[in-house]
Amino acid sequence: MVLEKSESLYKRACSVIPGGVNSPVRAFRAVGGHPIYFASGSGSGFVDVDGNPYVDFCMSWGPLILGHAHPAVIKAVIDAAGEGLSFGACHEREVLMAEAILRAFPEYEMVRVVSSGTEAVMSAIRLARGGTGRPYILKFDGCYHGHSDGLLVRAGSGLATQSIATSAGVPDEIASTTLVAPLDDEETLDTIFRTHGDRIAAAIIEPLPANAGLLEQRPELLARLRELTLSHGTLLIFDEVISGLRFKFGGYGQMVGICPDIVTLGKIIGGGMPVGAVVSYASLMDHFAPTGKVYQAGTLSGNPLSLAAGLATIGLLERGSVYSRLDALGLELEVNLAAAKIPGFRRIGSVFWLYLDSEPPPRHPRGVSERAVERFNLIHRRLLLRGYYMPPSAWEVGFLSTAHTSEQIRGFASALAECLSA
Ligand SMILES: *Cc1c(COP(=O)(O)O)cnc(C)c1O
Repeated sequence: MVLEKSESLYKRACSVIPGGVNSPVRAFRAVGGHPIYFASGSGSGFVDVDGNPYVDFCMSWGPLILGHAHPAVIKAVIDAAGEGLSFGACHEREVLMAEAILRAFPEYEMVRVVSSGTEAVMSAIRLARGGTGRPYILKFDGCYHGHSDGLLVRAGSGLATQSIATSAGVPDEIASTTLVAPLDDEETLDTIFRTHGDRIAAAIIEPLPANAGLLEQRPELLARLRELTLSHGTLLIFDEVISGLRFKFGGYGQMVGICPDIVTLGKIIGGGMPVGAVVSYASLMDHFAPTGKVYQAGTLSGNPLSLAAGLATIGLLERGSVYSRLDALGLELEVNLAAAKIPGFRRIGSVFWLYLDSEPPPRHPRGVSERAVERFNLIHRRLLLRGYYMPPSAWEVGFLSTAHTSEQIRGFASALAECLSA
């Protein structure tokens, strides 16, 4: 496989872009080699700048649930572009987007649209603090909520309040306002709430953690978190930036029967364009400026092109038989990987994780062995050379889209078996 143009672009990139990438997950640090540069995508695949085609199981990290360059989405964006790229003023698609999101999340009343998942979470946290007048937030080790200061934090040893920033540039003063709990552990959760409960503005969790593997939680953990937040006057935020609209026309919270106070969305609701959203009750959302005192703004928030792509995508998810198709494809992948005796595979709907270990699926990030991570790093390259693109890290999940085919899934299963036995 020739990767000359990718190599040469990466060399140039490294001298003008830090690490050659605009988001660190795109670098191939973990799996070795250098990033591939892509020229175009269509349906379930994309083609790199050297002309090599790949079946894509990264799907832009989740947004492309309908595949690359879906005709209806592209048409909506082109039509919108002809009417102007940005108004910096109100337009109809903003109303349509809020109404569409509330059809998927009928428990709530209002939506504020922003330009990324990070921004949605950051705004939700400020809203929770402004609404409750409390200083702390609680997050879980193994969940990712974007790159705002207060969320790049992990647990220190000892007390839950001894949190440590996971990034340079985050002051201790900010890190210390984030408490960190382990996943899959109600006992520690009880202790944290007993000690700090009345000072915690919000607890935030990915109800289906999917950023450090696919760490499905026991329903008891989520139920206990709902109980504790309710009894302490703490708001519960479900960060559904990945899981929102991924499994059904709605959220993962609805699937497990737990209703948080705030839902954050992103990825799929932008259909491949930059969008995020905060969803909640009117009584809470009214704290946002201009009605309330929680400041939140954005020059390009609710951008017409982003909303056109999002609305076209959401429209198809709402009307079509998309989810039964995605479930069927997911099941097919599972059946084929089982037949190929691939160890350590977890799949929920159209999201899958190759943890490549014989253990049952882990529920917290420490549950994956170093050997399994090394195994993934080795096969990533081998898969790439066979034309299958997985996210370049053992800790990332893969995504199916409606554009994937049975043939591609069978091909992937046998390629994976080959790569593992090599
Ligand atoms: C991707 C992601 C984010 C951040 O969204 P960006 O659009 O990358 O800023 C936040 N939360 C979760 C759960 C995510 O998966």
